[in-house]
Amino acid sequence: MEEKRSSLNFIEQIITGDLKAGKNNGKVHTRFPPEPNGYLHIGHAKSICLNFGLARKYGGKCNLRYDDTNPTKEEQEYVDSIREDIRWLGFDWEEREFYASDYFDQLYVWAEKMIMDGKAYVDDQSAEQIAGQKGTPTVPGKESPYRNRAPEENLRLFREMRDGKYGEGEKVLRARIDMASPNMHLRDPIMYRIMHRSHHRTGDKWCVYPMYDFAHGQSDYIEGITHSVCTLEFEVHRPLYDWFLDQVYTPGTVRPRQIEFARLNLNYTVMSKRRLLELVQKGIVKGWDDPRMPTISGLRRRGYTPQSIRVFAEKVGVTKTDSVIDVSLLEHSVRDDLNRIAPRVMAVLRPLKVVIENFPEGKVEMLETVNNPEDESMGTRQVPFSRELYIERDDFMEDPPKKFFRLKPGGEVRLKSAYIIRCEKVVKNHEGEIIELRCTYDPDTRSGSGAQRKVKGTLHWVSAAHAIDAEVRMYDRLFNDPDPLGHKDRDFKEFLNPDSLKIITGCKLEPRLGNVHPLDKFQFQRVGYFCVDPDSTPGKPVFNQTVPLKDTWGKVVNRGS
Ligand code: ATP
Ligand code: MG
Repeated sequence: MEEKRSSLNFIEQIITGDLKAGKNNGKVHTRFPPEPNGYLHIGHAKSICLNFGLARKYGGKCNLRYDDTNPTKEEQEYVDSIREDIRWLGFDWEEREFYASDYFDQLYVWAEKMIMDGKAYVDDQSAEQIAGQKGTPTVPGKESPYRNRAPEENLRLFREMRDGKYGEGEKVLRARIDMASPNMHLRDPIMYRIMHRSHHRTGDKWCVYPMYDFAHGQSDYIEGITHSVCTLEFEVHRPLYDWFLDQVYTPGTVRPRQIEFARLNLNYTVMSKRRLLELVQKGIVKGWDDPRMPTISGLRRRGYTPQSIRVFAEKVGVTKTDSVIDVSLLEHSVRDDLNRIAPRVMAVLRPLKVVIENFPEGKVEMLETVNNPEDESMGTRQVPFSRELYIERDDFMEDPPKKFFRLKPGGEVRLKSAYIIRCEKVVKNHEGEIIELRCTYDPDTRSGSGAQRKVKGTLHWVSAAHAIDAEVRMYDRLFNDPDPLGHKDRDFKEFLNPDSLKIITGCKLEPRLGNVHPLDKFQFQRVGYFCVDPDSTPGKPVFNQTVPLKDTWGKVVNRGS
């Protein structure tokens, strides 16, 4: 079930208004424009859900466009991962997979046109000199001594730049706008720079590459994008976006409109690709898809469902002001979804052996248990019960406090879907550690066999002879500070949580879990939600903890209502 909203968000209001006004022949066409310089993260997921969602809602289309104008940072691996992640989230760009680099020829032609129109010039100054003339928001910039070159000379120089006559940084092409503009982005921004680098798609064809601001809006125009949705930091770029369009716009064609919304920020989370890359390269995490990463691939491996991420994006909503979302809202979304779809199973993470002294040796009784109390259609299964079992070490205390309703010496508990047992004796090794409990069971207390006496605690358990051995990876937040980037003069890596991963080996699982596939999801009863990791081998599953059962967000929400 996707979240349903009745009111329109501000972007939908703009689109509805445009449609009413008869703009763009009633078409809605959006795009998602990732730069292939890293894996997509949960912030991108918000943008994907928004752009593809708008297209879906208004019967329009959404393109996938790789923003690959910078040849130094882009790689095929990233292109492939982006494709996989968007598909996994449930969206389809059909045949419309584009690259800004597809448009390098057209962009170049437009640049020459702008030169001939007196709207662009070649500047011979260094980057430092140009930066030094920029001025400040209140002090106008200084015009370049090359600003008034004749168009013919500019054209010749620009062609020489293209033909490889100059080294990197020797010359740039700049838009000729207004060095006194109160908007710094309009102070003759750079359109092209020289880079003698191979590009992942165009190879060595080019050694001049367009800047983002020039390439982006023109790419939107080429693709017939009606609404170009981006994050708030581009609001100040919008006059430049429009200015560049003015230079090439043909009346009667679709004119893209840039709309900015607030990016997603999550506490306890670092989202910038540059920082995430650093964690990968330094081996602080195991890769882009490490289950602790906020990447889509990391969340997938952690056990998140596409549905839970889409619902999260919808809940967060689309706004015009920056805010920080509590990461527990994301955890709440996946818990909610898994509660509906995840089969319940019994898994003992830290086993303590229990011997049922009055249960015959060698006997196995199959007991019926429901797969998901939230969904009857998921049916029931049989679990084996025998003389030797495992329970959770934490579920027994030799000397418990008053309100301890789990197992204690002389005490009784119910084993889930099985019998009531009583602890008769505690067996210890010579170091004094508890290694085994001797118990008895009451054969008249089989679950589901009519009215019977009640006990306070119910424990999960696994039959020792039938148990599957597994490794379970428990996760905590990657950072132990709500705002790892928010500390002056301190590196975000100082706030890494040293306990973000704990590996538990020797876990004992019910036999049903001997046959699982990567990304299968389960609720380990009384423990949390878990997902099969691709590191699993036949008969030796590895599980990732997705989220614990306890829902801190749900509590907060319920208290408020
Ligand atoms: P990062 O800063 O993490 O490297 P980016 O903005 O440089 O991200 P792009 O590949 O350029 O990454 O982004 C593709 C699209 O995703 C852009 O339209 C961008 O605005 C959007 N986007 C990126 N981060 C977020 C976010 N945190 N919330 C919402 N949208 C985002
Ligand atoms: Mg970027």
